[in-house]
Amino acid sequence: MTTGRVTLVGGGPGAVDLLTVRAWRALQAADVVVADRLGPVEILAELPPHVRVVDVGKEPGRHPVPQERINELIVEHALAGAHVVRLKGGDPFVLGRGGEEVLACVAAGVPVEVVPGITSAVAVPGLAGIPLTHRGVTTGFHVVSGHCAAGPTAGTSGPLDEAALSCVRFGTATLVVLMGVRSLGAIVAQCLAAGADPGTPVAMVENGSTPEQRVTRARLDEAAGVAAARGVRSPAVVVIGHVAAAGLLEGTSERRLAGAGV
Ligand code: SAH
Repeated sequence: MTTGRVTLVGGGPGAVDLLTVRAWRALQAADVVVADRLGPVEILAELPPHVRVVDVGKEPGRHPVPQERINELIVEHALAGAHVVRLKGGDPFVLGRGGEEVLACVAAGVPVEVVPGITSAVAVPGLAGIPLTHRGVTTGFHVVSGHCAAGPTAGTSGPLDEAALSCVRFGTATLVVLMGVRSLGAIVAQCLAAGADPGTPVAMVENGSTPEQRVTRARLDEAAGVAAARGVRSPAVVVIGHVAAAGLLEGTSERRLAGAGV
C-alpha cells in the first residue's frame, strides 16, 4: 500500500468562516481528520460522510490524548495510506505544538505539509476591536504563553521572560498572552514588581469569534480581581498595553467588527 500524507491545518480561532479556502479544501480531500477542542469544531459535522474524525480535544489542564500519542496517531493513519488532516486551532506553529507533529512525520518518512491558520493571538483581539499595533501608540507586539505549569520561565521568578516584561514596563510593544487565565495573578504581580504602570490597560477576550465572545477590561493592578469577579475562563487572549484601552477606536463597534451586526 502506498504511504498517505499528513496536512497540518490551522483552522483559525473558531468561527467556521475564518477557515481559509486552502484549509477547507484540505478538509474536503481528507480521509481522516484528527481534531482538537479549540478551533472550528462545527466544520466536523459538515465533512463528507466517508471522512473519519478522531477527536483528541484537549480540555484546559487535562490532556485526554497525550501529544506523543497524537504524533503516533497521525503517523499510523498516514502509513496505512490515509490522507490525514490534523486540524488545529489558530495557526499550527503558534503555541500549537505543530512543529513536533511535523518532526514526527519526518522521522517516519511521511510527507507532511502545513496550511497556516489565522492565529487567535492576532484575530481574537482584532474581533474585539483591539488593534495590536496602532500609529502613535505601539509599533509592535509580543506573543507569549502564560502557561507556567512547568515552572517559571528560565531566569525569572514568574511566567514572563525579560522581553515580555519590558514590553509592559516601557510600553514599547503590546503584550499578548495565550493560555494566560490561570496564571493571570502571577503575570500581573510580575509586571508590577518589574515596575510597570499599575494603570496599564488590560483586555481579556474570551471565546473570540464565537457567539460567546466576551471582552473584559481592567487596569493592570485590578486585572486579576476583575477577571475572578467576572468569571473569565479559558480560552481567552489577554492583551496588555495601551491598545487595550476602551475607546481607542472611538466609534467602532466591537459587535460590528465581530460580524454580529449592531
Ligand atoms: N495555535 C493557537 C493557540 C493554541 S494555545 C493559535 O494560533 O491561536 C491555546 C490558547 O489560544 C488558548 O488558551 C487561548 O489563549 C487562545 N485561544 C485560542 N482560540 C481562542 C478563542 N477562540 N478565543 C480566545 N482565545 C483563544
